[in-house]
Amino acid sequence: IGSERSELIPLLLAVQDEFGYVSEFAMQFIADQLKMPPTEVYGVATFFHFINKKPKGKFIIRLSRDMSSIMKGAKSVARQLRNDLGIRFGETTPDGMFTLEWTSCIGMNYQAPAMMVNNEVYSNLTPPMVHRIIEECRQEISIRRPTMGNVGETYASMLSYASHEPNAALTRAVREMAPADVIGELTVSGLKGRGGAGFPTGVKWNLAAKAESDLKYIICNADEGEPGTFKDRVILGKYADMVFEGMTLAGYAVGATEGILYLRYEYTHLRPHLEAVLETRRQARLLGENILDKDGFSFDIRIHMGAGAYVCGEETALIESLEGRRGEPRNRPPYPVEKGLHGRPTIVNNVETLATASCIVARGAKWFTGIGTERSKGFKLFSVSGDCARPGVYELPWGMTVQQLLELVDGVGAKAVQVGGYTGELVPASQFDRVMGYEDLGIGGSIIVYGQGRDMLEVAENYLEFFVEESCGQCTGCRIGNQKLLDGVRLLQKGTCSNRYLNDLIGLSHSIKSTSKCGLGQASPNVFIAINAHFQEEIMARPILAA
Ligand code: SF4
Repeated sequence: IGSERSELIPLLLAVQDEFGYVSEFAMQFIADQLKMPPTEVYGVATFFHFINKKPKGKFIIRLSRDMSSIMKGAKSVARQLRNDLGIRFGETTPDGMFTLEWTSCIGMNYQAPAMMVNNEVYSNLTPPMVHRIIEECRQEISIRRPTMGNVGETYASMLSYASHEPNAALTRAVREMAPADVIGELTVSGLKGRGGAGFPTGVKWNLAAKAESDLKYIICNADEGEPGTFKDRVILGKYADMVFEGMTLAGYAVGATEGILYLRYEYTHLRPHLEAVLETRRQARLLGENILDKDGFSFDIRIHMGAGAYVCGEETALIESLEGRRGEPRNRPPYPVEKGLHGRPTIVNNVETLATASCIVARGAKWFTGIGTERSKGFKLFSVSGDCARPGVYELPWGMTVQQLLELVDGVGAKAVQVGGYTGELVPASQFDRVMGYEDLGIGGSIIVYGQGRDMLEVAENYLEFFVEESCGQCTGCRIGNQKLLDGVRLLQKGTCSNRYLNDLIGLSHSIKSTSKCGLGQASPNVFIAINAHFQEEIMARPILAA
């Protein structure tokens, strides 16, 4: 057992692996070992969804309740599960075999509905399939089903890069470029962070390079929790080398020696594959001491498992959890590039950004700037799900309209498209000429298509349930306001509120946005505001009281 506080979450997960849950006795023991107050250990353990605080079934079934899953039949799957197991969600069977729970998006939206049975993922579920899976569990037959996404259309060349030019970027950097040249190439390329915030990658790397410190960190944010997003899972499953190469390049560019891949708990099934790729890279001297015989260039990568908290996708919350704390976003500044993990300069980039950085260094900034638009250079991976015939991961140049994307995925005639995940923007059909790019819809990559006939208040309810569940609770507006907004949407669904109440809900939405510290709270009311603006007739179609 370790003695550093940063080992707290790995320890809690290790105890859970051994005993099935983390008892109060175990928390006390860990607190003693780490010389922490037991209340703090309890505070961390209770923050994360996937740390069990009480005994659960031998098989924990977690059914995804993201909107794509609901649209594709998650409710009938849920009914089958309840009938077969004889329990409700949140309960465990009397024989201790099964626990049934809802969970947030597990990154399988285009093969929805999907669920996890312990760490195994089952997708494209139907009620008969679920019945079979339960029977197989009862007989303890373990069947692994395919979970890797098939990659859809590919426009540019990123997805063929890995097989054609393995490690060309790292070789070029180490043999031909000084660290400053690598940063220069990225800066000229105009690459912006692909996680959604769109901060220029070259600027971020330059700030970290200039920060004075004997220790710096490169973190790959693989906590892909935005509902509707699954492209990072596909990259990690098929092109992990590109991601690790990008991390190593970042280490070379800024003078960092340690890299951490922060992998969301829902992607535990990817870990053996990722560990194997890392080991192969060490054997090939692409990681470790004196990489590719470059004297003094040492860098290695370890994997840190998340424990189930959407807000840890925010970089400072992610760092907090790496340090063994509740994943609560920090006040900024200071920014992680100045004072990040353990107070040291830290780069946090997401999976796609790092993979794209490898492409750019291998092929040059000029190649990259030849794709996309004036303000949005290059290409982007989109995770497409919902009401379309060809969902999947699409690699497309920036600058396409929403309509063009719908034509590609066979979703023409949609009622609305959620662009950028639950925290993004709900685009109605009248605005399908809008452009995907930083000049208009600069997004993280999640696209959910809503066909005609979808109930937009049900959409709002689903999103708000998610935000209520995932709020870290620091800000009153986010913690209480989102619950009030959800209550209000449910009243609207029943048709039991007045016009004045509807206006109050709009006012509440704006105060949640303005009083929240991080992107979750700032964006959580967007869906309600958009539905009120674009689909008010659906609200008014329900009985509204006169006052
Ligand atoms: Fe936490 Fe919500 Fe505040 Fe973000 S906005 S820090 S999730 S309470």
